[in-house]
Amino acid sequence: MKPMGPVPGGFGAIDGELAIGGRKASDWAEQSTPVFVYDRALLDGRVASLRAAMPKTLAIHYAMKANPFPPLLSHMAGLVDGIDIASAGEMRLAMDASVTPDRISFAGPGKDDGELEAAISAGVTLNTESAAEIRRALAIGERLGIAPRLAIRVNPVFDIKGSGMKMGGGAKPFGIDADLVPPLAREIADSGAQWRGFHIYAGSQALDADAVIATQAATLALAGDLAERAGVDVPHCNLGGGFGIPYFPGDAPLDIERVGEALSAALSRRSERLADTRFAIELGRYLVGEAGVYLTRVIDVKESHGEIFAVTDGGLHHQLAASGNFGTVVRRNYPVAVANRFDADPIEREQTIVGRLCTPLDLLANKVALPEIRAGDLVAIFCAGAYGASASPSAFLGHGPAREVLV
Ligand SMILES: *Cc1c(COP(=O)(O)O)cnc(C)c1O
Repeated sequence: MKPMGPVPGGFGAIDGELAIGGRKASDWAEQSTPVFVYDRALLDGRVASLRAAMPKTLAIHYAMKANPFPPLLSHMAGLVDGIDIASAGEMRLAMDASVTPDRISFAGPGKDDGELEAAISAGVTLNTESAAEIRRALAIGERLGIAPRLAIRVNPVFDIKGSGMKMGGGAKPFGIDADLVPPLAREIADSGAQWRGFHIYAGSQALDADAVIATQAATLALAGDLAERAGVDVPHCNLGGGFGIPYFPGDAPLDIERVGEALSAALSRRSERLADTRFAIELGRYLVGEAGVYLTRVIDVKESHGEIFAVTDGGLHHQLAASGNFGTVVRRNYPVAVANRFDADPIEREQTIVGRLCTPLDLLANKVALPEIRAGDLVAIFCAGAYGASASPSAFLGHGPAREVLV
């Protein structure tokens, strides 16, 4: 047997079945499978507990690349202070969700002139990622007769220790090396543009509170130091995020109470230069990841060389991350359950759950301990609220995308 990750909190049973949003999984699956079900109450609870743990003045942003499903995005927009986007396409979705441009910031390397123009015209803040991008934005602003709202995304020399995906520290396509930032900040502030401050993002999927605390302290110190060297005030400072969620065996939740207390203490010691700065963190998976379940129906159960395979109507074309092919080095099992017998005991024999694609990569749960799986059963794959539907190759093999619902 191979272990599975922990089933997230907030999921109970009704008549022995997995319950999502107060109804049985089979109700949500009735219309068609596969389906992603996102639970609104879990989103609300997550944001509420985060706010309770964080300093009161801290703004919370949702990085919408984690899940851009329009109903979910609209719901999140009502819960958080800002939406962080990474393309003009995401900008349109955010505006369609009635997010006002002053609450949107746009990061990402490779913003083309059309994207810069759309953001500047709308009044969206650009987290600029290179000197050349700053100059293009200034020129476009001049041409349009609009003072662009510009912040600098800083590539710090540190990253979050033990984080799943490194996005800061050393040579990176993201942000501007910290050394090069002060004269560019000065240039923006002197240009007549609206100088918005810094965006400093050091990593993702961190579960170790000490690592997050150390990174936030280093980020604050860096922001103060850059402001001092540039001789600019910092209206806004995005401290990054990187809060992780438990996906795999042995993962434990991030202790956000400790992170919040340490951040309060660090903020109270911040540089004089940052006295009037408004601080934010930006989170994706931490806000939405555990609120989503991918439900897929078992089409066939077969045996091969003594191993049991349950073949589902889903697969990596919807939930690439659970197959281990989205940013993990070693494949491990996500939390998985037989949704229609959620409270049944596992059988002695190990069972493997696969998708319906003709590739050995399409593995959803490898050699796990679950109740006996039969054709017609519903399999639930948890932690599907982030980097699921929109981060999977849904055109691959032609089965088409999964349905999504916010409940
Ligand atoms: C991807 C990304 C995020 C969200 O990451 P999560 O791990 O989902 O929290 C936030 N900020 C930036 C700049 C990103 O690229």
